[in-house]
Amino acid sequence: MSMDKDDTAVSRRGFIKVTAAGAGALALPHVGIKELQAAPPPQKWDREVNVLIAGGGVSGTAAAIAANDAGETSILVLEKMPHAGGSGVFSSGTILAAGTILQKEKGIQDSPELWYHEAMLTAENGVDAKLTRTLIDNAREVFDFLYKAGMRWSFVDALPGYSADRGYREANGGAKLMKIVLAEIEKRPNIKIQLGTKVTRLFMDTNGGAFPQGEVVGVECVNEQGRTMNIKAKKAVAICTGDFSANPAYIESHFPALRNTKSVGNPGNTGDGIRMAQRLGADVTGYTPQGHPHCVETAPNKAILWCRYEFLAEDGLILVNGDGKRFCNEPEKGYYVPLLPEVQKQDGKFACVFDATAAGKIAASPRFATTFRGHTELFTKGLAGDGYVIKKAGSLDELASMIGVNAAGLTQTVAAYNEAAAKGNDPQFRRNPKFLIPINTPPFYGWRGVVGVSTTRGGLRMDPGARILDVDLKPIPRLYGAGGTVGGYTNEAGYRSGWHLTNALTFGRVAGKNMAAEKPWA
Ligand SMILES: Cc1cc2nc3c(=O)[nH]c(=O)nc-3n(C[C@H](O)[C@H](O)[C@H](O)COP(=O)(O)OP(=O)(O)OC[C@H]3O[C@@H](n4cnc5c(N)ncnc54)[C@H](O)[C@@H]3O)c2cc1C
Repeated sequence: MSMDKDDTAVSRRGFIKVTAAGAGALALPHVGIKELQAAPPPQKWDREVNVLIAGGGVSGTAAAIAANDAGETSILVLEKMPHAGGSGVFSSGTILAAGTILQKEKGIQDSPELWYHEAMLTAENGVDAKLTRTLIDNAREVFDFLYKAGMRWSFVDALPGYSADRGYREANGGAKLMKIVLAEIEKRPNIKIQLGTKVTRLFMDTNGGAFPQGEVVGVECVNEQGRTMNIKAKKAVAICTGDFSANPAYIESHFPALRNTKSVGNPGNTGDGIRMAQRLGADVTGYTPQGHPHCVETAPNKAILWCRYEFLAEDGLILVNGDGKRFCNEPEKGYYVPLLPEVQKQDGKFACVFDATAAGKIAASPRFATTFRGHTELFTKGLAGDGYVIKKAGSLDELASMIGVNAAGLTQTVAAYNEAAAKGNDPQFRRNPKFLIPINTPPFYGWRGVVGVSTTRGGLRMDPGARILDVDLKPIPRLYGAGGTVGGYTNEAGYRSGWHLTNALTFGRVAGKNMAAEKPWA
């Protein structure tokens, strides 16, 4: 191999350390949206490997591990950011799987068949059936891999439209999950990861006419020092560069209703891989909006994913719009998938309100830490009155001005809600009487919600073997993909927490195995 010592390589230990520390938004000069193009192969290669993976997030690391475990010894992952883990590190870490050891322990009856049936039903048959089948059939293997590696989840969640509890959730789940995955990478010396290196082009060659339309033979990339390198991939390239949640122009063009929302994911996810592959003629599919109305602004222009309103509503919380009026059945619509359209009808302006009784119940609930995605300190500080997210007030009037809603409207709304609670009947939204808990014990609490974008839905079209398809629906030779880069495996109606990570992990593994099995072209 013509592999020079790479002056940008980060020590394996350093790589794990940086990542485990979390994705503190470290800016890179070249992380912006540079022109990405397909190109014929270069005169000179700077380095060569068998399997090259663009993106060191969830799907990229899954692909690398699977390629290694399938016997491949030459694997390089190029990651644009100074840390690996992608949006996986920021994520809640919820994954889906049917027939797991955890379900058995909890006496939950489930099977891939049942999940497949319910997945297609909830998605109104609007997703790729073969991708869905492959994802579901492989999800347990992913679960087993993570479980064996040491990942544990505190909760097996019920999800709307699913008869069996199959969403695995844990406080700070994403950070834990990626720490475990990266520790698995560290055990595999065949996998090299180069941080701070952005893949900018895919090289195609006809290789003497064997592939008249060309096959992917390598990539161009640029390191932190601005040095351009050409890296030959003798077996295959995988596009694991994630979604485009951090690309406002792309968000606005695909999902106009989500314009002006804030990214709460990895700043490196600007859709690079989708654009690079499109320039080779790749097809795209599955663009449906996904906004997250469970976010809060922690500082000007900085938002985080925060809590699940449907759980909090069971303890007595209500949601109100800018006029101080309720707009939905909170325990039913508080889950973020149905909540988004409800919030959009209110021009995106909404807040939550609860009292001291609810606050006590929420804080004492075993779901507390996971409900707030591990931001429990922010919540407890808020309850004490010195948090900047949660507002605390002695009266509803005072609270209304703090959370930016109409005071008279809020007072009327709470009075009507308390009357409904006393009667056990909510004529306006039919909230379950069990969750009609009066809001009458000061202090009162609340915060303004914002819609954030944690991930985008839609991207390259792939087959169940994780091969990227061109506009004629034929695989582009030696090009694979997984994760947020690809589309078609879920949609607006069918999405439930866990589909994205499960897709990234399962198809990452599928891609890795299949890349390892390719015959080298050189
Ligand atoms: C706050 C939050 C909570 C979430 N919670 C959940 C959840 O509970 N369950 C769930 O299923 N999903 C969740 N998600 C979504 C999930 O994290 C993503 O869908 C998942 O990380 C996708 O994996 P990926 O490999 O496609 O992308 P990522 O994990 O983001 O990895 C992509 C990597 O590619 C790198 N990259 C980009 N461009 C280039 C380039 N040109 N060259 C080299 N590298 C590049 C990026 O820097 C990044 O590291 C959440 C996301 C967020 C932000």
